[in-house]
Amino acid sequence: MPFPLRFILNSLVLFSSVLAFAQVTPAKISGKITINMGQGLVMADLELSNLPKLDTGFRILLNRGMNMKFFRDSTGVLRYNDSPGDDVLKYRIHNGKNYIPLPEKLKINYSGAFPVYQDTLSFFDYKGVIAFNGKTLRASEQSKWYPVIYDVKADREITSLAYDITIDCQDCKTIYLNGSTPQAGPLARFNSERPFELLLFTGDYQQQAFAGSDFLNAEIPAEVAGQFDSQILGIKDFYAGKLGIPYSQKITFIQHKAIEPFGPNRSWGFVTFPSIAVAGGQFKGEIVKETGKFNHILKYSFYAHELGHYYFGHLLSPNSTMWLFLLESPAEYLSVKAAAAEYGKDSTIAYIKNKQKLLKDKKIVPLSKITRAEQIDDAYRYSYGPLILLAFEQRFGEKRTYKFLTTMIRHAGERTDYAFLGKMARESGLSEKEWTSFELEVLGLEDAEVLPAKLLGDKS
Ligand SMILES: [Zn+2]
Repeated sequence: MPFPLRFILNSLVLFSSVLAFAQVTPAKISGKITINMGQGLVMADLELSNLPKLDTGFRILLNRGMNMKFFRDSTGVLRYNDSPGDDVLKYRIHNGKNYIPLPEKLKINYSGAFPVYQDTLSFFDYKGVIAFNGKTLRASEQSKWYPVIYDVKADREITSLAYDITIDCQDCKTIYLNGSTPQAGPLARFNSERPFELLLFTGDYQQQAFAGSDFLNAEIPAEVAGQFDSQILGIKDFYAGKLGIPYSQKITFIQHKAIEPFGPNRSWGFVTFPSIAVAGGQFKGEIVKETGKFNHILKYSFYAHELGHYYFGHLLSPNSTMWLFLLESPAEYLSVKAAAAEYGKDSTIAYIKNKQKLLKDKKIVPLSKITRAEQIDDAYRYSYGPLILLAFEQRFGEKRTYKFLTTMIRHAGERTDYAFLGKMARESGLSEKEWTSFELEVLGLEDAEVLPAKLLGDKS
């Protein structure tokens, strides 16, 4: 596979850390960004507002290449200490005497200069790098090209923001800010009341717009792009139909050249919902022209999983102890269902068998005993969690499983701890007895090999 799965997963973990922090009134970023593609310059004049009430234990994270001009709140210019980090600087704000609580509004002005790599001189590139390659600029939320509030106590970063940002880039043909429609340069204003992680992609490239997707810099033949988009639309329609919640979000596919000189066979990608980016790879190679379908079920499942994050991740931003379970396992479950609709029910059996192998000898901490979200590790959330939902389906049927998921989405904003699961199950129609027996016989299992065996026992 041209998409190294490990890398995708790593990116997803980072992707997820953010979503846990959604608020009812999202924090917002406004102002102006000026970019010079030729010189590798980024100048920012920004204001953060609707900031949460945090005591003095917060930090402001910013890429180490950005040089601070000022922080300012309603009382005037603020002072700061910074501590060096690998990729980011952590600013601690004070008024000369004391550290201050996080102001509700904060003005920040900074500028940064970055090397433009059009050659083989850079030895690394990854999602945390602000990458100018002479043609495009890629700056993801992980790079902290914009100020990210870090709540030390809760160990959470606020990377998802509502925005009203003007981008001035005189040498840009196209400008894209995550969650919005790409616009023609040199001046573009982006506005969203819904919070997104701010992936920025600008430069000398074309966009190709379709009903369900936008392709940026993909140079994909229109016919193939249409086929790709049909597959994406098919997945969206499937979800919207099953969950009864319209899928109102375009997916943006970004293709670009990494600044590390990868060999011809290496590529990597990352996801910052609703954007899916590859470096080195090509989207057009993933479609079989004759059939108009993805070239492999794993490819289909990968996109189906990512699209599932519209519901679990975006509409419902889980938090608390069930954060990682509710972020990844339902998205994975949905992709299993979408794959079954596309490739047949045998694909579900193959899926379970594959997970069974991965879970060999693994011990499980039952969801009711999870005290820290991180206890739900990769294998738990990507392999075991989906099996829990398949077991739910085996007992109560597909319809009630979708109802269970839908009920959770409709309760977005609530605390998603273990009690939330039981409350949602009952509200979606399970009797007390049904839930209790599910808790006892499925959720209570501690040997990860029991559940797949049970699922296969009834299916094969
Ligand atoms: Zn995911």
